[in-house]
Amino acid sequence: MKDFTTPMSKVKIAPSIICADFGNLEKELAALERAGADLLHADVMDGHFVQNFALNPTIIHYICSHSRIPVEVHLVVEEPERFIDLFSTVGASIITVHVESTNNIVRVINRIKQLGIKASVAINPATPVGHLDYILEYLDMVVVMAVNPGFRGQVFLARTVDKIEAIRNLATRKKQHLDIEVDGGMNERTAQSVCRAGANVIIGGAAIFDTGKSREESIRRLRDACVPIKSSRE
Ligand code: ZN
Repeated sequence: MKDFTTPMSKVKIAPSIICADFGNLEKELAALERAGADLLHADVMDGHFVQNFALNPTIIHYICSHSRIPVEVHLVVEEPERFIDLFSTVGASIITVHVESTNNIVRVINRIKQLGIKASVAINPATPVGHLDYILEYLDMVVVMAVNPGFRGQVFLARTVDKIEAIRNLATRKKQHLDIEVDGGMNERTAQSVCRAGANVIIGGAAIFDTGKSREESIRRLRDACVPIKSSRE
């Protein structure tokens, strides 16, 4: 299992692999590794929870076995409990499920951890932070959706910043080492504002893959834009 544990004070950059050049995937993975990407974010969509389809276990297994970068599987699917065991075999280091997608969120989190994988929960823009109250302590990471999931190229929703601040405060009160990742609409400007609010993992789509610059330069610019958060625990 590739370890994804890094100091909270370092902002981690997670390229969204659905934006990669799939015609040259092996080259793409090597370039992202050279560029210092910290995590590969792999979206799985089922056509139900969102009206789109994305990666499947076969392709994610390929990615996991052709890269030294840890991989996060983001299950943008209805009833993720049906797929946890299946995705536990692909080699991912962390699995993210949506708090809105299941009536058994605690059972799903427990199953992920039982399988030796880090557990993470995503919340949609319209979902209040209160939905995390009773589950936060079981989580390694929270993924705050800054756009409604399903399609790339959407505009960042500004209220995300308050939400991140509230989650970071909650984690600090619980003295919890929690990664907060932001999904959607990230560029140098928005990444800076979410990091100031307490996020420490930035997913890059267009900001990494559509800049016309090298992967290395795009990742460096995104990282430099972020002000590292201060953590009393390190
Ligand atoms: Zn995602």
